[in-house]
Amino acid sequence: MEIYLVPSRPKLGNGSVISFWHDCWTPLGPLFHRFGDLGPKGTSNPKHSNRAGWIFRGARSEAAEELLIYLTYLQLPSLSTIEDTYVWVVDNEELTDFSSRKTWNVLRNRGQTQLWTKNIWFKGHVPKHAFTAWIAHQDRLSRWGMNVSPLCCLCSSTDETRDHLLLRCEISESIWDLVLGCHFQAFHTWTAFSEWLSIRDAVTSRTLKRLAAQATISSIWNERNKRLHDGEARTPAAIFNTIDRFIRDTILGKRKLKAFTPLMQLWLPNG
Ligand SMILES: [Zn+2]
Repeated sequence: MEIYLVPSRPKLGNGSVISFWHDCWTPLGPLFHRFGDLGPKGTSNPKHSNRAGWIFRGARSEAAEELLIYLTYLQLPSLSTIEDTYVWVVDNEELTDFSSRKTWNVLRNRGQTQLWTKNIWFKGHVPKHAFTAWIAHQDRLSRWGMNVSPLCCLCSSTDETRDHLLLRCEISESIWDLVLGCHFQAFHTWTAFSEWLSIRDAVTSRTLKRLAAQATISSIWNERNKRLHDGEARTPAAIFNTIDRFIRDTILGKRKLKAFTPLMQLWLPNG
């Protein structure tokens, strides 16, 4: 999971060069590692994607579900006229030439990068929410929006940046307040938010913070899309009820994982 540090990253075009199973072309790392021997046998290659979508057979595992979600965000190789390429990637920026200065700066901050990786892909993460959080972390959510008003879909009073929409908007703050209860604090920047997620403290569990934060980010993003596309608006309390139910169900479902065992007791005082 070294997407920010991999110096030369395959960039998917028409799927002619990249090895679907062996190249590190998704944030999931080489898919071969994730799916094992069964992967190449049980599922198909991107070359087999047709105009309608990816042909993907195989077991309905968590790894398969993650991959499917990721694939829905990509342009189909069969529709691309560009050859696959390999690009230098430093700090998530694609460079045409290798820059040792930029690479050094990133390597110095490697600890920070690894913390983020753990914040997102923690053990027991919910794939759908982890992907939204991962895209939000890279500040790429809005690129998938259509050509619409620049104003925030929740409050209509400020430009919709990631940090405003997900952290600082008054509607989002009310949701965070309900989710975090007595642990509530306002996050003014994405950096402050990431640091809070990474910090281990005596009062609560990092797994719970990460689970709740990803559910909150996804819910705010869904609410934004519902308002934008369907004209439907829910109150922060109604959105919180959905998050609360989701977190209870997830904790119950994953209670056999060690990190999840104590979570219901930690979560309930919030409910
Ligand atoms: Zn707003």
